[in-house]
Amino acid sequence: MKINIKEEHLIIKPYNSQTSVYVREQKGFYQKIRRYINWLLMFIFIAVPFVQFNDQQAVLLDVVSQEFRIFNMTFWPQDFTLLAGIFMVAAFALFFITSWIGRVWCGYVCPQTVWTLAYVWVEHRIEGTRNQRIALDKAPWTLNKITKKVLKHSSWLLMSLFTATTFISYFVPVDELYRGLFDFGLSGVVTFWLLFFGVVTYGNAGWMKEHFCIHFCPYSRFQSAMFDKNTFMVAYDNKRGESRGPRKRKDDPKELGLGDCVDCNLCVDVCPAGIDIRNGIQYECINCGLCIDACDQTMAKFNYAKGLISYTSEQALAGKKTNRFNLKLVSYASLTLIFTALLVFAIDSRIPLEANVIRDRTALYRVNYAGVVENTYTVKILNKTQAPLHFDIKVDSLTNSELTLPKNVLISAGTMREIPITLAIDGYELEKKITHFNFIIQAIEKPEIVLQKNTVFFRN
Ligand code: SF4
Ligand code: SF4
Repeated sequence: MKINIKEEHLIIKPYNSQTSVYVREQKGFYQKIRRYINWLLMFIFIAVPFVQFNDQQAVLLDVVSQEFRIFNMTFWPQDFTLLAGIFMVAAFALFFITSWIGRVWCGYVCPQTVWTLAYVWVEHRIEGTRNQRIALDKAPWTLNKITKKVLKHSSWLLMSLFTATTFISYFVPVDELYRGLFDFGLSGVVTFWLLFFGVVTYGNAGWMKEHFCIHFCPYSRFQSAMFDKNTFMVAYDNKRGESRGPRKRKDDPKELGLGDCVDCNLCVDVCPAGIDIRNGIQYECINCGLCIDACDQTMAKFNYAKGLISYTSEQALAGKKTNRFNLKLVSYASLTLIFTALLVFAIDSRIPLEANVIRDRTALYRVNYAGVVENTYTVKILNKTQAPLHFDIKVDSLTNSELTLPKNVLISAGTMREIPITLAIDGYELEKKITHFNFIIQAIEKPEIVLQKNTVFFRN
C-alpha cells in the first residue's frame, strides 16, 4: 500500500482570496491536544512580559537602548553572533521534527495556526456552525447579518489590538506601555507599531487564515524535501477505504463492494487547509489531525475500526517496518544537539564585559619634563551586567614600572565609561622601541569578569 502522492497535489495553487474555507468545528483527541497547546502558548505569550526578575521586567528587548534582557542575562548588539547560533538550532530542530513527524509545527504550535484557531472559535460562537456561516454569507444584508458581522469583526479587532499590545510589551517596558495606552500618552512610534501589528494580526488570523500557510509561508514550500517513506504524516488508507460510498449502518460493505470510507465528507469539512486527504498527501496539509478525529468519529458510528485516516508512514502503510533511526533523521538530531551544545557553551562562557583601548591619535609618545616617556590611552568599559560594578585596571609586561592606574572605577549596570589613562615609563626600562602589553580590566565584586586588551607602548 503506498501513500498516494499525486503530482498535481504538490503544485502550488494561485492565490484566490474568494475561496474561503468554512471549517466545521471538530471535537476529538487531536483537537483537544491542539486546544491545550494553544491555551498554553497563548498564556505564555501574554504572561511573559509581566514576569519580574530582580525588580525588573524579566524579558525586555529594548531596541531603543539596544539592550536585550532575558532574566539575568543582558545581550547587546555585540552579542548578535549568538542570534546566528539560535537560528541554526531552530532550523535543524525544525528539519528534525519535520523529517520525523511532518508538519506538526504548522498544525500545533505555529502562531498563525494558534491565532487562526482562536479567531475561528470566536467566529463559530458568533455566526454559528459551518452550514450557518455559509448560509449567512449567502444571505442578503439584514439587521441580523450586519449585527453578527459587526460583532465578529469588533471582537477580532479587539483580539488583534490585544495581541499587538502584548507583542509590543516585549520591546517597551510593560508598565510604561499600559500607562501610556490608558493615558493616551504613547509616543508616535509606539502607536504606529501597535496599529501595524494589530492590522497584521487581524488580516492574517481573521482574513488570510489558511491562505497565508498555503501561499505565503516559505516553510510549506520546502518541507516536502524533508519527507521520506519513514516520516509520520496524516494519511488515508486507500486500500482499506476504497471504493468509497454511502451505505446504511447495518449494511455489509463487502456485499456492496465498498471499502470503509462512507464518503461522509467530514474529513474535508473539518480541514482548515480545505483539502481532501483522500486524494493523497498535499503540500497544504498542516498535519493537524482534525480529519483523523472526524473520520474516527464516523468509523465509531459504523462500528468500523478506527484509523482509516491516521498518523502513519508510507512504510507502515505498505506493511513494512518504519525505520525511525534512518540516516537523515539521525543526522538532523545530531546537528541539533551539536549546535545546541555549542550555543549553550557560547552563552555560558560569554563575559558580560566589553572593553576597547584607544591610543591617543595626536602623538605616539611624549617625553615629560623629567625625561620619562608618556603614552596616553582611552579605555572604554561597558558593564553588560544588570548590577553596578567596580573595576580595577592593570597592565602586564610593564611590571617593572611604577604605574599609577585607575582603581575601583564604578560603572553602572548597562553603561559605558571612558577612562583616560597616561602611562609614564622610563624609556631605559624598555628593551624595544615598541612594547606590546595588555590592559587587564577586572571587576572587583566578580573577579571572574575579566578581560585583556592588547595595545602597544612607544618610546623614543
Ligand atoms: S488533511 Fe487533515 S491533517 Fe491535513 S490539514 Fe486537513 S485536517 Fe489537518
Ligand atoms: S471522514 Fe472518513 S469516512 Fe468520512 S469521507 Fe472522510 S475518509 Fe471517508
